[in-house]
Amino acid sequence: MDSLDIFESQKGKEKLAYYKFMYVVHKECIHFIRWKCCKKNSRKCPCILKTSLDKKNLIQNDHEHSQLSSQNEIEAAKIKMKIKTLAKVSKSTPAQLFSEAKAGLSDNILEELPKEKSIK
Ligand SMILES: [Zn+2]
Repeated sequence: MDSLDIFESQKGKEKLAYYKFMYVVHKECIHFIRWKCCKKNSRKCPCILKTSLDKKNLIQNDHEHSQLSSQNEIEAAKIKMKIKTLAKVSKSTPAQLFSEAKAGLSDNILEELPKEKSIK
């Protein structure tokens, strides 16, 4: 089974990466958490995921995605998390770390990254 990866987004909200897709919290229920696809709004994707409350187990994965994958969003989220972690231990500024991290990335992933200002 593919693992469930949790990322913290800019605003402290959690994102979940599962297989090649990215989800954001839709609703926290009593026995599970409902996630909606990150493309729900932009692509009207109906895909819904349910996980256990500890976000470690997949309970249900409903509907087909309207997009092929969200791999770029997942890569971008990983990079953002890496910069955040590095910023805590490194003497470089987040902007410096950001430009270093951006080197060698494909344009598709760069498009998913925020502007440097918002990452500070
Ligand atoms: Zn989707």
